Amino acid sequence: MKAAILYKPHELKIVKNIIPTPTSSELLIKTAYCGVCGTDVHLFHGDEGSVPMIPMTIPGHELSGILVSTGENVVVDPNYFCGKCNACINNKPHYCENIKNTGVTINGGFAEYLVAETSQIHKLPKNVSLLQGAFAEPLSCCLHGLSKISISSRDNVLIIGGGTIGLLMLQLCRYYGANKVSLIDVLPKKRNIATSLGADNTYESINMISNEKYNKVIECVGKKETCQDAIKVCEETGIILLFGLTKPEEEISVKPFDLFKRDLTITSSFINPNTIKKAIAILGTGAINVDKLIGSIISLEELPNVLANDKLRMDGKVVVKYDL
Ligand SMILES: [Zn+2]
Ligand SMILES: [Zn+2]
Repeated sequence: MKAAILYKPHELKIVKNIIPTPTSSELLIKTAYCGVCGTDVHLFHGDEGSVPMIPMTIPGHELSGILVSTGENVVVDPNYFCGKCNACINNKPHYCENIKNTGVTINGGFAEYLVAETSQIHKLPKNVSLLQGAFAEPLSCCLHGLSKISISSRDNVLIIGGGTIGLLMLQLCRYYGANKVSLIDVLPKKRNIATSLGADNTYESINMISNEKYNKVIECVGKKETCQDAIKVCEETGIILLFGLTKPEEEISVKPFDLFKRDLTITSSFINPNTIKKAIAILGTGAINVDKLIGSIISLEELPNVLANDKLRMDGKVVVKYDL
């Protein structure tokens, strides 16, 4: 089979590998689609993902595929939790002492086949396509983030950033019945997509917001400036979710007195503990349009170039498609 192996930073090679053999607790999956995530870009450049990468691992954690044994369409929850350690017992499985991650510490979806533990494999309902299935993982991360700020019909939500995550957040806030959902992006194209997905207002920057008030602000860019914008623009008593991944060394300046005066809460979230089933269920309701999020669909051979060249990822989600 063809597989992309990250030998060392910036050295991702497409090689011929043997098809892996599943153990008794695993199943073999023929990969259908695998999305390219910001984490894959970080790993390509030698930065840490959710955990440090094991060299020579096949990356890719946003995948869908077909179970070779039964022909069923499935997705893989990339995070393996042991269920026995202190963190797992204390309901924070994403801090599992024995955590394993598909595409970071074990071989992932940038290969024609992969094996996964049966416990990590989730069947897709008939009305969810394999392409939609490749969005279950990023959607499950968004769901964990939103669980920290619980969206309801009382909320006016502002999303900063119209990338894949921002546009998923927008649709989820609509799904949860938010009173108003607006989005900021510098690119007119992204603002148009946001409008077509149900955004009430779109803005080029926070300076364009005049009288509108937002009590929930979700930062999905991961830059210092946009994190500070999120705090600045939030209505008093509101909650700010810092969701975009900043560089590890990035710092922002916050005036505690300002938080006090405006009674603000700042929160964040890490990966997707046990939210993949919910993500699949929401995909099944038809509430999430993924077609408008896709920038390009590529072959595995194009992946090294796409990871190396930021411009090739500017138009939206890049998804690797395999011949089935
Ligand atoms: Zn991801
Ligand atoms: Zn554990």
